[in-house]
Amino acid sequence: MPKLLFRSTNGQSPAVNLREAFLEGLAPDRGLYFPERFPRLTPDEIAAFAALSYHEIAFRVLSKYTDGIVPADALAAICRAAYDFAVPLERVYDRVHVMRLDQGPTASFKDFAAQMMARLMGRFLQEDGKQLTILTATSGDTGAAVAHAFHNVPGIRVIVLFPFDEVSVSQRKLMTTLRDNVRTVAIAGKFDDCQAMVKRAFADPELAHLPLSSANSINIGRLLPQSVYYFYAASRLAQPGEPIVFSVPSGNFGDMMGAVVAREMGLPVRKILASVNDNDAFPCFLQTGVYEKISPSRNSLSNAMNVGHPSNLARLVAVYGGQMDETGKIHRQPDLAAMRRDLFSSSISDQRTRETIREVWDQYQLLLEPHGTVAWRGFLDWQEHEPLNGLPAVILETANPAKFPEEIEKNMGWSPDVPPAMAAAILQPEDFDRMDADYEGFKAYLIKTHA
Ligand SMILES: *Cc1c(COP(=O)(O)O)cnc(C)c1O
Repeated sequence: MPKLLFRSTNGQSPAVNLREAFLEGLAPDRGLYFPERFPRLTPDEIAAFAALSYHEIAFRVLSKYTDGIVPADALAAICRAAYDFAVPLERVYDRVHVMRLDQGPTASFKDFAAQMMARLMGRFLQEDGKQLTILTATSGDTGAAVAHAFHNVPGIRVIVLFPFDEVSVSQRKLMTTLRDNVRTVAIAGKFDDCQAMVKRAFADPELAHLPLSSANSINIGRLLPQSVYYFYAASRLAQPGEPIVFSVPSGNFGDMMGAVVAREMGLPVRKILASVNDNDAFPCFLQTGVYEKISPSRNSLSNAMNVGHPSNLARLVAVYGGQMDETGKIHRQPDLAAMRRDLFSSSISDQRTRETIREVWDQYQLLLEPHGTVAWRGFLDWQEHEPLNGLPAVILETANPAKFPEEIEKNMGWSPDVPPAMAAAILQPEDFDRMDADYEGFKAYLIKTHA
């Protein structure tokens, strides 16, 4: 069988294999890599997942992509090591469940991708005898997940930039207490400043001698592992062949693209609900067919979803036969009727988020943080349009409520329990550098610390 190739959504760069797509991140034409065709799992293969554990399902799904690149026994060992934590599916009523993706080392769903990516990247670099610097800007969860996953991976150093005033103390401590090959830099500025500095460093010819790579959600290596938990949920909740509904709290749309990938690989899915906060570019597009990004992005309670122009929309549009470039310009319109058949998207304001946190607690004693709450409300919104008809449904909770104690405290009058991994990190001494939002200063720092 010919090796699976990945093409750029902009269509101007040569197709590459998984390993190249992985190490490059962004395609040279600034598009996003996406499989030329999706490997399919047969209904029997999917039905067999019911008897497998999470890491075994991960192996069966991901081996469809790594065939010929990572030996099967190595991939199996990587999956086992990466996914050694629980993935709880909590029944709320009837066949409606919350899937908690918050049991990893940094208590957000970003751990699922980061844990896999770090191991695969470490392996590729070792094979090549190369070194790499992972440079990442974070508004909180990505930096922590990446720092933990790449901590002490040989051949890799990690530099995380975060806006000092925009990150909660517990989010910060999950990054700043690691040391060794991980450096964290607090920027006296906003998340946008951090991201602009990182982007400039990638494009700076004077830094070309430092092999820099990113670990953000444009990388296909982050997307593929995020398809696994959809297979897992269906294997536990749906009968063989029975379709399922997912509601996904969405910012950059990497998580919901995992559901699309699972469906393209053969998982029966009734509907994917991309639930967003006030950054409503996608629901407006789905309704009108006109895409207008939100700029600057709108601040909201679910701060990891404050994304005005979700970069993964380029991939979603490609699945439906269209083409969108990195600026959000549509060169070929996707099949909107098919998108409306498969997808639903609603925008949830901060006020509705706050009300819903309280309501789900009062009604079900279910504690959700702001991101998961957006997904819950989006699910209720969808049901005003279509009945569930007894199908299984899964609402994704993407972070642990203890990461947002202020908001929970304000709504409920008490604070959530802190999971053990977070509690341990919070007690460690911190170590981080501080810097102004000044590119030249940051560049000098990159060169100085490279030695
Ligand atoms: C990153 C993040 C999201 C949004 O995920 P996308 O893949 O960017 O859509 C949602 N919830 C939490 C807690 C996150 O950290």
